[in-house]
Amino acid sequence: MNAPSPPLPTVLLRPGEADRVVAGHPWIYQAAILRLTSPAPDGALVQVKDHRQRMLGIGFYNSRSKIQVRLLHPERVPVDQTFFATRFQHALAHRRRHLPDATSFRVVHAEGDFLSGLIVDKYDDVLVMQTSSLGMDQRKPAIAAALEAVLAPRAIVERNDIASRKFEGLPDTQGVLAGSCEGPLAVTLNGLRFEVDLTAGHKTGLYLDQQVNYARVAELVGRLESARVLDCFSFAGGFALHAAKAGAASVHLLDQSEEALAAARRNGAANGLADRCTFEAGNVFDWLKARTTVPAHEKLIRPFDVVVLDPPSFTRNRAAVPDALRGYKEIHLRALKLLKTGGALVTFCCSHHVDAGTFQDVILAAAFDARRVLRRLATYTQSPDHPVVPSIPETEYLKGYAFEVVR
Ligand code: SAH
Repeated sequence: MNAPSPPLPTVLLRPGEADRVVAGHPWIYQAAILRLTSPAPDGALVQVKDHRQRMLGIGFYNSRSKIQVRLLHPERVPVDQTFFATRFQHALAHRRRHLPDATSFRVVHAEGDFLSGLIVDKYDDVLVMQTSSLGMDQRKPAIAAALEAVLAPRAIVERNDIASRKFEGLPDTQGVLAGSCEGPLAVTLNGLRFEVDLTAGHKTGLYLDQQVNYARVAELVGRLESARVLDCFSFAGGFALHAAKAGAASVHLLDQSEEALAAARRNGAANGLADRCTFEAGNVFDWLKARTTVPAHEKLIRPFDVVVLDPPSFTRNRAAVPDALRGYKEIHLRALKLLKTGGALVTFCCSHHVDAGTFQDVILAAAFDARRVLRRLATYTQSPDHPVVPSIPETEYLKGYAFEVVR
């Protein structure tokens, strides 16, 4: 018989703090904690109980973080390689069911897969992992071993240069944890080739959360005849190349990053689509302003059938929301001025702090100012490999719309 495992330090919650945990939210803030029954080292496993000593679950403790406990499981179970492997199998089954044709996708979406503090992306046969909590970071060897057991990757790369690590007292670090991944990496999304820079690319390399939306926007572009497309905040050409492949007559890519545009050029060439694409480095705000400011007696030319707006998040926190909304309104107002009647505005917001309703309100305010009327063609969300758990609002961040410009 196995020896009984030693008791875990217990975190007791204040009255009234248990409900959100029962509903599925894994974060325990300091203010919710009544007391610890015994001292717990940072990163250690603890059990969490309500003020009447009813068990709520186990999770990782970190006194240095605002989020002092990140819950992992409602019962007391060992958190070892087998635990992680089981979670990864469930996560993988979800992707195989809902993204059956994808070869590159997010395998673990932190809270969306009930693993707060862990992100794992799969780029073909290479895995990229990010640990943003101390508890997860301390267990990297078990996590890597479980990933090898479940996914048998060629390599596991650590991309731990994310801002959130400093809130847990963790330094930046990068490197290959297992296997080898020399040379350039290229992956296929919806039949298009994209190069991936695992060391310096945005996110972990590509915007995998847009994978399904790329295909849907391509369908939309394909239904318009010989569309002239403007892809603002193009990065390496995700939307632009999908639009070009769908039959757009021309696609203009605009991004402030020369490196992103260089990658977009290589991606365009690799897919045989470069002849339809033009590339320009510049600030989208300035570019749109310059193209929409005309002397009073001149009429503005509306050159585009489709404008895609996929900016970075303009909000780091809730306090930044009013400024962000002004920024969103500005680019929508100007984009609408450049769209032909009957054309389509495709727009995304990846800020968790701006919800879909607020985002649409901003677009409508811009349409009013531009004296244009919109009809909604589509709503978008993050791809299913970035699952949303509604009782954990932080899991939802990407929203988007396509609108027809009716007049
Ligand atoms: N649509 C892209 C992702 C866009 S990410 C895709 O699907 O892959 C946001 C991009 O906006 C980044 O490439 C960044 O370089 C660029 N960017 C941020 N601020 C900008 C600005 N003011 N003007 C132009 N590009 C900007």
